Amino acid sequence: MLNGLMMDYPLTLDHIVEHANRMSPNKKVKTMLPDGSMHDYTYADFYKRVKKLSNVLESLGVEVGDRVGTFAWNNYQHLEFYFGIPGAGAVCHTLNLRLPHDQLTYIINHAKDKVIFVDGTLLPLIEPIADQLESVQHFVVFNVPEGKEVNLPNVSQYEDLMAEASEDYTWRCTDENMAMGLCYTSGTTGMPKGALYSHRSMFLHTFGVLMNAALGVIEADVVLPVVPQFHAMAWGLPYACTFIGATIVMPGPHLKPEPLAKMIGEERVTIAAGVPTIWNGLYHELKNNPRDISCITQLVVGGSAMPRGLIEAYEKELGVNVVHAWGMTELSPLGSTSKLQSHHQDLGESEKLDIKAKQGYFIPGVDARIVDLVGEELPWDGETMGELQVRGPWIAGSYYKVEKRPEHFTDDGWFRTGDVVTIDESGFMTITDRTKDLVKSGGEWISSVDLENALMSHPKIREAAVIAVPNEQWSERPLAVVVPVDGEVPEDDLNDYLLEQFPKFWLPDEYVVIPEIPKTSVGKLDKKVLRAMHSEGNLS
Ligand code: AMP
Repeated sequence: MLNGLMMDYPLTLDHIVEHANRMSPNKKVKTMLPDGSMHDYTYADFYKRVKKLSNVLESLGVEVGDRVGTFAWNNYQHLEFYFGIPGAGAVCHTLNLRLPHDQLTYIINHAKDKVIFVDGTLLPLIEPIADQLESVQHFVVFNVPEGKEVNLPNVSQYEDLMAEASEDYTWRCTDENMAMGLCYTSGTTGMPKGALYSHRSMFLHTFGVLMNAALGVIEADVVLPVVPQFHAMAWGLPYACTFIGATIVMPGPHLKPEPLAKMIGEERVTIAAGVPTIWNGLYHELKNNPRDISCITQLVVGGSAMPRGLIEAYEKELGVNVVHAWGMTELSPLGSTSKLQSHHQDLGESEKLDIKAKQGYFIPGVDARIVDLVGEELPWDGETMGELQVRGPWIAGSYYKVEKRPEHFTDDGWFRTGDVVTIDESGFMTITDRTKDLVKSGGEWISSVDLENALMSHPKIREAAVIAVPNEQWSERPLAVVVPVDGEVPEDDLNDYLLEQFPKFWLPDEYVVIPEIPKTSVGKLDKKVLRAMHSEGNLS
């Protein structure tokens, strides 16, 4: 073998922030603060604060490889954590603020987070579990509302620590294989599992996002990531925008349609990214209060399927181009996009919309195949359904501190997505079902199994099954099918009971009482049958 003679340049994230400081020092990062006012500063200011933050972490005793949690909305501070934590050689563990308390406690203890940065607007969500967080040595808070008392142990104010820190810092991320980020997924069974990203994988994913075949962010773009930084790394946009020097507009806690419409209009946003529920809400807002949002060149949507009708409404009524994308936490998360290709040029409008409603082609860097139940590869004919398996440089090779299992990874090196799909001759993928039974509501998972277990522990319930039913606003909502022990059960009782364990958005929209729940041959709840009953109108 003859080795190439090119430089051994480690693909580490410090290069991204150094590049932004050199190439785009005057470009802006803007944030809508909790009070609705706009904060902005330049990438040059940002760069200095990232270095200060890395110093702060060292002064708190954070060592290379330590996990540091972030519990925050999308804002400039969270962008600083995205770079300052990996820059100090530590791992940025984004905590999903919508997780129920037991799962949040579990992931913090499982990751052994040493320090957690907490957005002051979210204190009530983390204070009640603080005494159960075994590994946490420091909490650092910011954006604390005036007059709000902070009930956390060993707590410091972010700005106090930053005021004392030096702007000189020697990056500690020296090896591209070092871990830089950790994000837990919600599984069908058991507790969430962690995808542990490396500098190399995130660096390459950033190139992936920047490709025109993917999102194609350019310097002139003004990008609004509505997709949370605490879920699937805001689809990699924070890194892509910083690298290319695009203007970033962070919405902070303002995810309602009205402030989003205002931000898009006033900041002249060109790329906005979020789940279908967000864009459904925005569409209805704009119907009631029209505003020109045709500044958007790409409305990126993923996380669950974007209804074709909504794509059409955006394109025809609002003049906005929709880019449907598919990804997973385990893919950093981008896997496919559905932009039209040269061979679609002569298609009619309706056929073009059909293509845009697909989950799309795999972006360069992502290999894909579909297989049947015994692992045999299936044809790409647009009709044959199979389990989607993927591999590539930004795809998880195993889960953090979980033994590698055949239900997640194949022996020949592929990741099993759990999505059931068809792929057509030109490589366009359509998701037809999931092997999982999770309910996807507004871009967040609801575990049907957890709800069933809780319902079945209610003294008046004999059996319960929860299925996802389509919902225009939230994509899907849970419907509970219950068999009472004796007679009727008041819905309010069940809701109060579930609220002791789950957030409000987990409550089933409907309870349907039936005499017996259908079972499979091995005695499991047969949700396929329930789904069919629902779609035929026999469950109500
Ligand atoms: P998460 O890791 O929480 O982002 O969830 C990943 C899962 O969301 C995938 O396995 C899909 O089932 C689903 N998903 C993501 N994007 C889409 C999409 N565009 N259409 C349909 N389902 C999607």
